[in-house]
Amino acid sequence: MHKTLITNWNNYPEIEAEVNFYSIGSEKKASFQLGEFIPRGNGRSYGDASLGEKVYSSLRHNKILRFNKEDGLFIAQSGILFSEILKVITPNGWFLPVTPGTKFITLGGAIAANVHGKNHHIDGSISRYIQFLDLLLANGEIIRCDRNQNSSIFFATIGGLGLSGIIVSAGIQLKKIESTHISQLQLKAQNLSEILDLFDQYSYYTYSVAWIDCLKKGKQFGRSILMLGEHSKENEVQNKKEVLIPHDNKAINVPFTFPEFVLNDFTIKWFNKLYYNKNIKSRKELQSHYDPFFYPLDSILNWNRIYGKRGFIQYQFVLPKEAGKKYLEKILKRITDKGWGSFLAVLKMFGPEDEGYLSFPMEGYTLALDFPIRNGLFQFLDELDKLVKEAGGRIYLTKDARMSSQMLKDTYPNLKEFQDVIREINPEKKFQSLLSKRLELI
Ligand SMILES: Cc1cc2nc3c(=O)[nH]c(=O)nc-3n(C[C@H](O)[C@H](O)[C@H](O)COP(=O)(O)OP(=O)(O)OC[C@H]3O[C@@H](n4cnc5c(N)ncnc54)[C@H](O)[C@@H]3O)c2cc1C
Repeated sequence: MHKTLITNWNNYPEIEAEVNFYSIGSEKKASFQLGEFIPRGNGRSYGDASLGEKVYSSLRHNKILRFNKEDGLFIAQSGILFSEILKVITPNGWFLPVTPGTKFITLGGAIAANVHGKNHHIDGSISRYIQFLDLLLANGEIIRCDRNQNSSIFFATIGGLGLSGIIVSAGIQLKKIESTHISQLQLKAQNLSEILDLFDQYSYYTYSVAWIDCLKKGKQFGRSILMLGEHSKENEVQNKKEVLIPHDNKAINVPFTFPEFVLNDFTIKWFNKLYYNKNIKSRKELQSHYDPFFYPLDSILNWNRIYGKRGFIQYQFVLPKEAGKKYLEKILKRITDKGWGSFLAVLKMFGPEDEGYLSFPMEGYTLALDFPIRNGLFQFLDELDKLVKEAGGRIYLTKDARMSSQMLKDTYPNLKEFQDVIREINPEKKFQSLLSKRLELI
């Protein structure tokens, strides 16, 4: 069988793999080769969650099976991209109930990572809206799982990183919208404690996210811009022809892998422009289409090449609310002092924990930033892990490529329940990824 080089969005690790496509017969059984493999969506995870010697891609299975425009129930095969779903649902006044910072992920990948968006503190993760899923098991059978039937398999599949089986299709409840625009409020914070106060003060906003400057020290340590948003009402959109329009496909491309780390130059200019712009005092109101609000990085295709050939690690952790403030300061200080990370970090507030044995969110704060791979980086991140653990937090598995299995055991309290279910349905450990082996997940 032909092997090809594959990697996920952070370009680390890169491996040779056999890429296969499954096929489903009319008798609701699937044919796939025996042996060890991992399901793969669009490779937008950062790390080794969808990497293995053999992968099964869902990308040829992207059909919409049913879309009820009245009640917003949307059923599709798992390989459909969020960008394709949005094209169909937004002109009909519906939106994704939860969406991450890129629209180029598959429905299956979203469920398997139980993705969160800028509205987690109010709406939770994507799992809350999944009505059911059809799962292809290791024995070739396809079963329906939801909160009533096969519920433990359902909870092991949500956030289960492809280790329970291949999600073949799923039903998701969409969110009603009056327009495809977002009414935004942007606020500046002079330092870390100010941004945390602002998050609390404006927690009633559906969408909130902050960009933090990771280079500033001293009085401006943690200076940030908080971006808040709500779906605009129909009568708030000025151009009546543009009330419900999907995104277009315009984007610039980074044509080749850069020899060194230059994304910082780009983001520093962009952030400083926003921060120092005289027109934006401490507060600015504006309206934009959903595309630049939810997916600002999607307008630069292949931006990941900017970090060079060695790739990068996106380090994302969550800290529980109480201990969070103190530890966030400690960790951010270590990052700022070291100066190895990206200039910008993304800070979000999470609401309560979600369903799913391996779900990442917990009530508190989550911070994500990129570290280009260099000598000594993994040791440095191990030190940060210790602080995350001490605070009672954890690392997001779908963005991990280097954490230890001990860190997983110490920070994911429902790991044993997950492993018990997997032992039942995948006794021969047929579904395995580089990540599951590295972390001894199953
Ligand atoms: C720019 C950018 C911004 C992002 N922002 C966010 C964010 O805000 N919030 C967030 O939560 N995540 C975010 N992510 C991460 C991303 O949403 C997740 O990693 C998502 O899982 C990627 O989906 P994918 O289709 O590319 O799946 P892949 O990367 O191919 O796979 C991810 C996992 O899903 C499993 N999987 C994929 N398809 C199936 C299937 N059909 N059945 C069973 N298992 C399957 C794989 O085995 C793997 O474990 C971001 C990623 C990028 C690149």
